[in-house]
Amino acid sequence: MRVDDFVYHRPDSVAQAVALLKQLGQGAHFIAGGTDLLPDLKRGRESARHLVALGGLEDLRGVHRQDDGSLRIGALCTLAEVATSPLVREAFPALAEATGMLGAAQIRNQGTLGGNFCRAVPCADTPPICLAADARVLLTDGQRERSVPAREFFVGPRETCRRSEEVMTALVVAPQPEGSGACYQRFTLRGGLALAVASVAARVVLAAGRLEHVDVVLGAVAPVPLPVEACSRLLVGKALDEELLEQAGQAAAEAAQPITDIRGSMEYRREIVAVLTRRALSEAVARAEGRGRYRWEGLR
Ligand SMILES: Cc1cc2nc3c(=O)[nH]c(=O)nc-3n(C[C@H](O)[C@H](O)[C@H](O)COP(=O)(O)OP(=O)(O)OC[C@H]3O[C@@H](n4cnc5c(N)ncnc54)[C@H](O)[C@@H]3O)c2cc1C
Repeated sequence: MRVDDFVYHRPDSVAQAVALLKQLGQGAHFIAGGTDLLPDLKRGRESARHLVALGGLEDLRGVHRQDDGSLRIGALCTLAEVATSPLVREAFPALAEATGMLGAAQIRNQGTLGGNFCRAVPCADTPPICLAADARVLLTDGQRERSVPAREFFVGPRETCRRSEEVMTALVVAPQPEGSGACYQRFTLRGGLALAVASVAARVVLAAGRLEHVDVVLGAVAPVPLPVEACSRLLVGKALDEELLEQAGQAAAEAAQPITDIRGSMEYRREIVAVLTRRALSEAVARAEGRGRYRWEGLR
């Protein structure tokens, strides 16, 4: 488990980082917290002759409320910063909660939101809830910034639409309308430091007791985070009850495209998806009604 020698570059600006990556060509990678990339280099899954560190780029840090009410979360925010940010907890608490479940304190203190997105591992924990919120990913080539819906960002396992020299600068979450509630549920084989066997994010908007808007997004059971349109079709315009919950769980299980691996079989994952979908939807509705509680106790 030895990493081959590489040259470490520490640019001062995004433009410099992009220029370096272009100039160094193949064998050069951006590195943020390194919690995905360094293990991949050790395992020989990736090779690198040059690492271009993003750590010095202040523009990529911080959480800000923008003039239109949306939240701009810098790609270099650590997972712990997202989980504990008062702004994130106020504007889109389900993202803070989801981020706080991930890994362990060491990983959350070192790993970044941008790294979680750009690595694009199918079981990554932050993408499903961000897709459910219709978040957007901001990318720059050093000259022009483009904004991509998070739903279009992931194109396959460990593959995104980000061009190799582009830096992810931030994630933008639009203001949540009145009557919104969201919840992320994941199932792991043990309590800490475990990757999701399956996960489900749900976001609802309630009006006069009926579901005006529903988004269900599955994680770890498809090559990319998977929105389940069938759940929206089933639930919009109705008041959630036990029968509808059961049907929504079934619809999500049918939409899942799980694989069998060391963490669980295809069949097991479908069962888990049905259970998590029911839990995520009923908690999202409870939160929209002001009854739900967020679980971030213990997170500093
Ligand atoms: C023990 C352990 C437990 C873990 N548990 C979980 C878990 O429960 N859930 C989970 O989702 N993940 C988990 N992870 C994975 C990892 O910690 C996260 O994915 C983390 O968010 C990665 O961020 P990073 O900053 O460390 O990324 P890095 O390793 O620095 O980078 C990852 C990739 O993204 C690219 N990149 C990073 N930032 C940018 C950017 N701004 N612009 C362009 N490209 C960029 C890099 O070039 C690299 O290819 C775990 C990892 C470990 C080692």
